[in-house]
Order: sequence, then structure tokens, then C-alpha cells
Amino acid sequence: MTDRYASFVQSGVGRALVKRLGLPDPPQLRRHRPGDPLVPGPVLLGAAAGGRIAGPVGKLLTAAGVELRDPADVAAGTRLGALVYDATGVTDSTALRQLYDYLHPHARSVLPSGRVIVLGTAPAECATPREATAQRALEGLTRSIGKEFGRGVTAHLVYVSDTGDPGTATSLEATLRFLLSGRSAYVSGQVVRVGTGQAEPPADWDRPLDGQVVLVTGAARGIGAALARVLARDGAQVVALDIPAAGDELAAVANKIGATAVQLDLTAPDAPTRLADHLSARHGRADVVVHNAGITRDRTLGRMDVDRWDQVLDVNLSSQERINDVLLERGLIPAGGRIVSVSSIAGIAGNRGQTNYATSKAGVIGLVESLAPTLRERGISVNAVAPGFVETRLTARVPLVLREAGRRMNSLAQGGLPVDVAETISWLAWPATGAVSGNVVRVCGQSLLGA
Ligand code: NAD
Repeated sequence: MTDRYASFVQSGVGRALVKRLGLPDPPQLRRHRPGDPLVPGPVLLGAAAGGRIAGPVGKLLTAAGVELRDPADVAAGTRLGALVYDATGVTDSTALRQLYDYLHPHARSVLPSGRVIVLGTAPAECATPREATAQRALEGLTRSIGKEFGRGVTAHLVYVSDTGDPGTATSLEATLRFLLSGRSAYVSGQVVRVGTGQAEPPADWDRPLDGQVVLVTGAARGIGAALARVLARDGAQVVALDIPAAGDELAAVANKIGATAVQLDLTAPDAPTRLADHLSARHGRADVVVHNAGITRDRTLGRMDVDRWDQVLDVNLSSQERINDVLLERGLIPAGGRIVSVSSIAGIAGNRGQTNYATSKAGVIGLVESLAPTLRERGISVNAVAPGFVETRLTARVPLVLREAGRRMNSLAQGGLPVDVAETISWLAWPATGAVSGNVVRVCGQSLLGA
């Protein structure tokens, strides 16, 4: 499905009309290509007095080939690829002024598709109520920047635990590499928590999933097919699963990337054991499990027959639980393993005509939040991604007016592409991202829904 309006505004006539009528102006987003530099220009690294992260972050960014600039030496108006600010030293609301002083001179000079990243301490980990208050305030700042800067610039807040922990340091690097790069093109206004835990840096950051066995459900088309391709590009050995009726499409996806294809209806009573048997016999394990398969059966609640309710809950939520249980019981997800579940912003905001779908997708968030603490002890992370409006067959069925609203009602004024969700899932699957667990990351261009 193509977004004709987004193509039109890139034309001469389109640009003129957008300006004159004040129409939405979707920018062309910078998307990742292997070998690309992380950012489109130099990074201005600043820090509040007493910050604990700027030192290690400066080192890792330099090692990643980024050109760093010091706020003391950069004139207002200098074109910058990203603003990265260590706000961990902000322990009182009066100290928030340091962020204004750092950001104000450069707010209009960030390059298109540039980034603003603020690093802080999670309020729950702060030493005093005043520190927790000031750190929580950072969320309003970064979310507003995401809405304000335009031209594809995105903004994030990353709460970072003890950087002395090697897992934290590695996961912070993985997270910065994701957020600064074109991999996160359609992600904005997010709060990511980098905690503590097991995390392994890759030999090559262009192949961060080298040697990992990754199961993807719903891989025949849409987001799942894009995901299979991105995971394979990142070095994974992909096990692509879908229903038997989608066998031909699944085989086409699998053949292109050298994946194995598994035809299985996830709601079949014996699906978990058949899947576990297959993984055990063919691969010995699944380092990463991505629960992507999902369906919609929309009706307002009063008009919804019970089958629509049951099917959606079963495919989107209960089958994930059953499969997790069997794979975990049989030890097929090893230490260092990852579970990534696909939720939706409908699960955060609710949606008319989607009581069944939103229930299932909110349940996915509950699953992630409840499993994360117990699985941490086994060295396994579990996270969710919540896509907004993504251009797939699922959203092509949405009536035109709602479809246009879905596309434009976000900070980037466009729908996402399946690859945008895929890149986010891949980052959460990397061995290097292990200290990120229990997070729900929205891939929605900072949608107004549920914001
Ligand atoms: P899609 O319909 O294009 O693909 C879903 C895939 O899941 C299909 O290949 C389908 O055959 C498979 N599937 C369905 N039931 C299955 C079952 N019982 N067993 C095995 N496979 C099954 O959908 P998509 O847009 O690519 O969505 C992928 C995921 O992203 C879903 O969980 C969806 O809810 C979620 N999501 C999508 C959007 C969007 O805008 N497209 C937004 C939010 C969330």
C-alpha cells in the first residue's frame, strides 16, 4: 500500500500547496542501510553538573565513529546530527534549567532525521523525592521536542541504571546505536529503561544477531515478513512460522533469506508441543522468540459475536502464553534468550470497534511486565513493541478517512513501514540489549493516540 499524499508533498506543486494551505508535511525519513554512519552529522554531547554517564557515552560514541562536539566550543546555528545530554546530575527541579541552556541555542539546527536523546535516572531508582521529581520532568521535555522539532527529528528519554554494570554499559551502547541510527526512523517520544543484566556485545555491530536462532510467528507477510528479512540481514538464523494456508507466501519469504519454514496454526491444541519438538530437533534451541502473529475481527461490542472475541484473544494473547510456557519448561529458550511480543497502540489507548483486539494487546503488555522480573533471573529479557499505523494488508482494510487520520495523527505525519517495526524488534532481540527488559516501545511516529 502506498501513501500517495506523502509522495505528492515531495513534488514541486505539493511543496507549494503544503506551505500555502498549512497541510501536514510528512518528511522523508532516514532509514538504515548497512554501512551508513550512525548519525547525519556531529553529535553535541552535553552534561548537567554531576552527571555520571557523559564520560562512558563519549567514549562509546567516539569508538562508533561519531564526531563529538563540546557545547562550549559550538556556535548557535551549527548544523548537528544529534543532541545527546547526560541529565543524570539533575537532582532538583531548579537544575532542569541546565537543559534549557544546552538545548535552546541548538534547537533549530538539528539536521533532518537527527536525534535528541536525554539520559537520566529512572525515578524509582532516585535517592530522593526531589531527584525523582526532576527526573520524571524530563519525560515532558523529550516528548514535546518530538512534537516540535519536525523534519523527521525524533526525541527520546533513556533512563539508565548503574553504568558500572557491564550489562548496563553494553545495553546502553546497543540502545544508543539503535536510537541514533536510521533503524529507529519511525520511533519517537519514547522512554526506554536500560536496567542491569546479562548482555553480550557483538563482534560486528552490523551483524548484531550473528549465530542467533530466531523464531518469528506470522512471517508470511506484512510486519513478520519484513522482520524475517531484517533479522537475517542482522545475522540471525530465522525460523519462519505461519498458518498452512499461507504456506506459499511463507516459503517465498523463507527461501529468499535461507530460513526454515514451519507451517503451523498457533491456536491448534498441539501447536506448542509440535513447535517445541521442531525447534529441539532442528536447532536445539530458540535464542529469540518473536510473537508477531496477530489478527483483527472488528465490531463494536454489542454487535460482536463470540467467535470474533475468542479468535482474537486466542491468536493474539493466549497462544503466546501457551508457547512461552512450553518453550521455557523444556529449556528451549537458553540464558541470554529474548522474548519480544507485538502489542499495539490500541492496547494502550483502546479503540472503537476493537474491544477484543485492544484487550488482547493490553494483555500482551501485561504478559511482558509480569514475566520480565521472573525471567531476569534466568538471563532472559522480555519486551513488547506497540506499533501505531503501519502500512500493511491489515491497515489497507481500514476505511479511507480513518486510514488518512491514522497516517497523519502523529509527529511524523505518516504511517510507518513494516521495516520500522522490524528494526525495533531486532534491536530488542540483540544479545547486546539484555539489560533492556519489561519495556513497551511504541513504533508509532509518536501517535496522538494513547500519548
Ligand atoms: P498481517 O495480517 O499482514 O500478518 C499477520 C500474519 O499472522 C499473517 O501472515 C497471518 O497468516 C499470521 N497468522 C494469523 N493467525 C495465525 C495463526 N493462528 N497461526 C500462525 N500464524 C497466524 O498483519 P501485520 O500488519 O503484519 O501485523 C503483525 C502484528 O503487528 C500483529 O500482531 C498485529 O496485531 C500487529 N500490529 C499491526 C499494526 C499495523 O498497523 N499493521 C498496528 C499495530 C499492531
